[in-house]
Amino acid sequence: MLKFLFLFSSILVFPNSRSLEIHPGFVKFFQYSIDEEVEMGSYLMCDGSAVFVSSSKNEFWGYLAESYFSERKMFSCSLLKENGQKYNFTLNATVKPYNYKSEKLTVKPKRVKLSKSDQKVVNTQKQILEDIYQTSEGEFIFSSAFKRPLNTKVTSSYGKKRVFNKHHKTQHLGIDFRTGFGKKIPVSNKGRVVFAADLFYSGKTVIVDHGNRVFTLYGHLKRTFVDEGQLVDQGHIVGLSGATGRVTAPHLHWGVIINGHQVNGFSLIKESEKHFQNIKNINELSRN
Ligand SMILES: [Zn+2]
Repeated sequence: MLKFLFLFSSILVFPNSRSLEIHPGFVKFFQYSIDEEVEMGSYLMCDGSAVFVSSSKNEFWGYLAESYFSERKMFSCSLLKENGQKYNFTLNATVKPYNYKSEKLTVKPKRVKLSKSDQKVVNTQKQILEDIYQTSEGEFIFSSAFKRPLNTKVTSSYGKKRVFNKHHKTQHLGIDFRTGFGKKIPVSNKGRVVFAADLFYSGKTVIVDHGNRVFTLYGHLKRTFVDEGQLVDQGHIVGLSGATGRVTAPHLHWGVIINGHQVNGFSLIKESEKHFQNIKNINELSRN
């Protein structure tokens, strides 16, 4: 009886309570409506981290990304106005474990251990990238679903764990596509180029901001054709494939970074298809 009362009262307190499920390393598109207008600049506050949303009238939507390294089982988000005032809305997320494959490799110690000077370069670049992923356009710039950059075979999937010489662990937090040298690389969606330079691991790299802290990355390029600050349409050629950076053969490394988390790009493609399917449905409804 007590339990029933408790459930009943929590429904009274949270009439706008929703739930979703997500895996570590995955993305979820969400779209909800509440009983008041959602102001511009509103955001979800999830366990101390802000997830920016777009809104129109009583509706808001966005992309929730869960870190590959996440060990939490659940978390909840509140919807806040730009001034921090709360709306009457709670989102409860359940994090379901995902079994990423693992492979063991034995290589020369020199290959896994960086020299002091290389380590310094890597640390500096890591900081530069973290800063890039913090600032973003305040709205989603794109107006269609994301596309895979190449239709070739995936040679290394997202999330694969590698254990070198028993103790040195790495994770592949992008998707590798098979390609030779000099293949044109199109951008997955409309956005603004925020980085086009050389990096230690991913070589010549282009990073594109799609708004609300959704980014895509194109690595190991032979040449880049875009400048920082440039607005690019979906399919715009950002560069030519190559083998720059720490690689043994040419391929494209495609990364997706949302809210600072490197997530599975195929998950973003799938979720963005839902996003634009929803919009199509809304447009069709308003026409009838
Ligand atoms: Zn890769």
